[in-house]
Amino acid sequence: MGVVLGGKRCQSCGMPLAKDKAGGGTEADGSRSARYCSYCYDAGRFRKPELTAREMQETVRQVMRRKGMPRLVAEYWAWRIPRLKRWRGR
Ligand SMILES: [Zn+2]
Repeated sequence: MGVVLGGKRCQSCGMPLAKDKAGGGTEADGSRSARYCSYCYDAGRFRKPELTAREMQETVRQVMRRKGMPRLVAEYWAWRIPRLKRWRGR
């Protein structure tokens, strides 16, 4: 797991970390998070700690459709969300 699709992805929203303009989220000590993007994670905390996997799926669907992604691709990534580290074991 994890490397199945190649490239590191945010373990909260599934975005490729390489596409994160900020280069990834930050930990409490200011270092880069190797796991989460800057949209999800800042200073060692999730920006929306109360968010559920279902809500994240809906957000991902909307963002991808807005970017003109094919529906199948958007659905695929929405499907992937509960399998990312942040949401597993909940
Ligand atoms: Zn993210």
